Amino acid sequence: MHIVPERDIPDLLTREASFDAVENVFAAMAAGDAYNFPVVREAIGHEDALYGFKGGFDGKGMVLGLKAGGYWPNNLEKRQLINHQSTVFLFDPDTGKVAAMVGGNYLTALRTAAASSVSIKHLARKDAKVMGMVGAGHQATFQLRAALEQREFEKVIGWNYHPDMLPNIANVAQEAGVPFEAVPLERMVEADVVISITSTFAPSIMADHIAPGTHLACMGTDTKGKQEVEAALLARATVFTDEVAQSVSIGEAQHAVGAGMIAQSDVHQIGAVINGAHPGRTSDDEITIFDGTGVGLQDLAVAARIVDMAIKAGTAIEVDF
Ligand code: NAD
Repeated sequence: MHIVPERDIPDLLTREASFDAVENVFAAMAAGDAYNFPVVREAIGHEDALYGFKGGFDGKGMVLGLKAGGYWPNNLEKRQLINHQSTVFLFDPDTGKVAAMVGGNYLTALRTAAASSVSIKHLARKDAKVMGMVGAGHQATFQLRAALEQREFEKVIGWNYHPDMLPNIANVAQEAGVPFEAVPLERMVEADVVISITSTFAPSIMADHIAPGTHLACMGTDTKGKQEVEAALLARATVFTDEVAQSVSIGEAQHAVGAGMIAQSDVHQIGAVINGAHPGRTSDDEITIFDGTGVGLQDLAVAARIVDMAIKAGTAIEVDF
């Protein structure tokens, strides 16, 4: 088996490779060639940790495996370790033998950013000029860096619940050579594309904060009870997701579906748009929403690329196991 340690991954993994892997696996999911297994997530009653597994099988890319890990809230304070910890295990689909063990932390940030970028590529208006960010935490920087590659953005506007964190995203915009302005939430109506990536349980983005024609990628809601966007906005929009079952149970659509404002059948797989089976955006006035819940197959697809890259670079550690 091959081992690719966390420390090697930032030098190996590119945004382009992550984007390509995620776009392909979303397409395979919609075509019925790849499927995710039910997610396990447990409070283990030790260190307040949430631990779980996300797995799946991509029969087209021939990738089988799981990401194991979760959230240890005391890590940073007690041990100077990051709170999110995960590792990907890949298996040979022909034999079941373990094939690789890959650090999952940096990978998670790039695969999550790749998901919103894929949605921008396929659903945002081609003439989008203003990028809006709601959120300025760890994931937000990766999200913005990747999104700015999808259109000729001329300006970034940003809002965050904790304003002291805004320099995180202002710096990313500056590095990309795009002017940044901190704005109140009401001014998100000026954005053509909005990404929300926060951990809130009460919506920040109200229906009248989003103008007709906007594409909104909701990336923060990945658990029952979390909510970034007023449910009424989903009723006004065309809603897409990575995986419908997750969208309506742990994603942003859980609230609109739960309140009967939209039906599960109103939530479409982004992979169908990639494959040409769904038209995607059909007018310049339409609001499109991508509910990015985060699926195991994204992790596995990107991990498989990392292993290939590490073998090519000669940095993969080979173990006779
Ligand atoms: P972080 O702790 O670094 O940042 C949290 C962000 O949420 C900050 O911008 C913070 O200001 C904001 N926030 C906190 N409380 C808020 C409130 N009450 N109202 C509005 N905003 C509030 O976290 P992160 O690592 O950047 O993760 C952000 C979210 O993304 C989390 O909910 C995480 O679970 C989720 N996530 C989703 C995926 C996916 O695949 N969809 C992947 C990774 C993380």
